[in-house]
Amino acid sequence: MKRLRSFAEALPTLYLVATPIGNLEDITYRAVKILNAVDKIYCEDTRTSRVLLDHYHITQKLDSYHDHNEAQKQHQILKDLTSGLSVALISDAGHPLISDPGYTVVKLIKEHNFPVVSIPGPSAFITGLSMSALPPHPFMFYGFLSSKSSKQRKECETLRTYPYTMVFYESPHRIQSTLETFYQVFGNRNVVIARELTKTYEETISGSLEEMQNLDTLKGELVVILEGYQEEDNQTPDLLDEVYALIDQGVSSKEAIKVIAKRHDLPKNDVYQLYHKQ
Ligand code: SAM
Repeated sequence: MKRLRSFAEALPTLYLVATPIGNLEDITYRAVKILNAVDKIYCEDTRTSRVLLDHYHITQKLDSYHDHNEAQKQHQILKDLTSGLSVALISDAGHPLISDPGYTVVKLIKEHNFPVVSIPGPSAFITGLSMSALPPHPFMFYGFLSSKSSKQRKECETLRTYPYTMVFYESPHRIQSTLETFYQVFGNRNVVIARELTKTYEETISGSLEEMQNLDTLKGELVVILEGYQEEDNQTPDLLDEVYALIDQGVSSKEAIKVIAKRHDLPKNDVYQLYHKQ
């Protein structure tokens, strides 16, 4: 067991500072104070973060910390702390570590007994979840599903009977195919898409997964909030209706039978017999 007090001594500290997810005014007084006080700020993209820092007249030195240099830069941060500097880590938007880099450096710094202090603020998943009108707890934050469709489908299959609200991040290029996979794997559940949060074109789009199959192209940043599995989902499944719903979308009957059998944990042959009997 190890206990570390964040503010017990004036030790050099790694601060994880949450920054706005769109509206530049969504930053805490404390975050601005800390960003002004540290010796160095590590960020994903120096050009993106410079816009925010300029807005608050923060002139601290910037250095990069992103997915591709994380292995090397975490040791540089450790060196900074060892030589007496305090540093802040920010991401392009929202909370560092939340679908963003930072986890490995937090582990490393804590292993070396330096304080890690999180300065809370905006994160897109909590902003989207709280305005979704889907049950906010319990809930699971998943982040991004795989961008590979076969892997994404497998991930969804492991979540099929998860009984609580699930929150995903998704890009506008993939949202339609993801909603199609959701419908095929999860059946007809409620879903909410929270788009462009805190920005001019902020909106929520709510409906069933079936309705979402006809959604127009979406632009901007998206949070997808999906209703959890309900017991009754499986009580009297109208399997044939579900098979035909997929066929109507252009899925072959063979594939539709396979998908529906999997959705309800039934042998493929049972659904095949049902389909060919009518
Ligand atoms: N660290 C961020 C956070 O705390 O929310 C998330 C970073 S992740 C790389 C970026 C994804 O977060 C976007 O693709 C989108 O799914 C979601 N996101 C970020 N800002 C958003 C916004 N203003 N509105 C909707 N979704 C947003």
